[in-house]
Amino acid sequence: MSHLSPLPDRAEPMPYFPIFLDLRGRVVLLVGGGEAAASKARLLARAGADILLVAENLSPEMAELVDQGAISRIERQFRPGLLDGATLAFDGAGDAELTDRLRAAAFSRNVLVNVIDVPDQCDFTVPAILDRSPLIIAISTGGGAPALARNIRQRLELAIPASYAGIARAAARCRQQVRAALAGFRDRQRFWDALFTDDQLMGLPEAAAIEAIETALAKPRKQPPTGSVTLVGAGPGDPGLLTVKAVQAIAAADVILHDALVPDSILALARRETRLISVGKRAGCRSVPQEFTNRLMVSEARRGQRVVRLKGGDPFIFGRAGEEAAFLREQGVGVEIVPGITAAMGAAAQLGIPLTHRGVARSLRIVTAHCRTEAETDLIDWASLADPSTTLALYMGRDRLSTIAENLIGAGLPAQTPAALVANATRPDMQVQFAPLTALAGGSVLIDGTAPSLILIGNAVAQAPGWAAVTPQLCRHDDPPLYGMSNT
Ligand code: SAH
Repeated sequence: MSHLSPLPDRAEPMPYFPIFLDLRGRVVLLVGGGEAAASKARLLARAGADILLVAENLSPEMAELVDQGAISRIERQFRPGLLDGATLAFDGAGDAELTDRLRAAAFSRNVLVNVIDVPDQCDFTVPAILDRSPLIIAISTGGGAPALARNIRQRLELAIPASYAGIARAAARCRQQVRAALAGFRDRQRFWDALFTDDQLMGLPEAAAIEAIETALAKPRKQPPTGSVTLVGAGPGDPGLLTVKAVQAIAAADVILHDALVPDSILALARRETRLISVGKRAGCRSVPQEFTNRLMVSEARRGQRVVRLKGGDPFIFGRAGEEAAFLREQGVGVEIVPGITAAMGAAAQLGIPLTHRGVARSLRIVTAHCRTEAETDLIDWASLADPSTTLALYMGRDRLSTIAENLIGAGLPAQTPAALVANATRPDMQVQFAPLTALAGGSVLIDGTAPSLILIGNAVAQAPGWAAVTPQLCRHDDPPLYGMSNT
């Protein structure tokens, strides 16, 4: 068997061959004086094409381009001879008979034609572009779904900031210098890889980027790379709640050590070559020891791998990121933290619960009620938590739900204080139960035993539309009512 990878096995043939043309000084025939033709003229002029326009009437947009000197020559009528010496032709006149004549004349002269907005009459299409010149990203859907191409472009707009134009110019300017300083192809590749994954550099304007590249080049590279680790918050589950930085880190990673809480829909954003290692912990289950995770991060980073430690929610909220960061620094491995949306924020947004609310909740407390024994639960300072002007977000507390509620009531929090038990917040299988604290104490509120769940307690919970639905029953009965589970 050959070691070369075979041609990709695709059911569909590739409908267009993508290339980037150098049109500087080349003649491009443009037929039509309307708006569609003008927008092509603008693009062609930027690329330095020598535009020969065929038009009787000019739209204001086209007239402006003519005034600006963007058009080299104007003819009123099309004739086949105008195609002699042309590299490409665009037809935006919208005249079917003219199009036929143009296409026939172009075919016999081997000139490629684009009939604007008529894909099946085109020899080539113009892609949607993300312009960070000299960096240009072109997107094609084979002419069939321009709206999809636009949508993809908008997403790339976010992922590839405008500053990348300066980086691309700087990299081009330094290319020879880097080639002279680093003889090996692999060395150069590693050099550029390290630069382009450095967020600080990627935000620099051209001149500063050149300086940074030269400084990096001047640094001695004798010692092996020490590597670094990025501790990334993956949010509560919905991939749409990842930060742009988190998406970039995931996409750049060579190896990802992830929690059990991180769903497949987020891991799917990693490259195919990226190694995914589950180091998950789940309350009550046997899990990968922290020590193992720590050592693995260090050894992978020292091998020069780009390591991402991916955690549910925010890494600094019940995520042990503080311990991991301290260990990495002790070992001389660089650490970067990318924050994430914590579960309480995700749940609150989904349910419409303001975590602070003027005149109702002045503060938010994020606490855990995860205790190994009842005795440990007794050590919690319930008096300080039983504050009616605070919203409590209790993480990892499901197993001690009734104990928690009893203790809060015992410490003085009114028994009718609104609460919401939320499992799988922001995921497709989200479950929620609204109930007053007293119902939680009574043990009548239950939720699927394995899903990650949290409890929001406080008067602000009553602002949720879901709470309003249970309130009338509360007014009529002394007993806590049963609240149905909903899958919003
Ligand atoms: N670092 C995470 C918390 C990790 S501790 C964060 O900032 O969100 C794990 C606990 O987080 C779970 O036991 C549960 O209480 C809570 N949690 C995480 N994801 C959740 C989700 N999608 N819905 C509800 N609770 C969640």
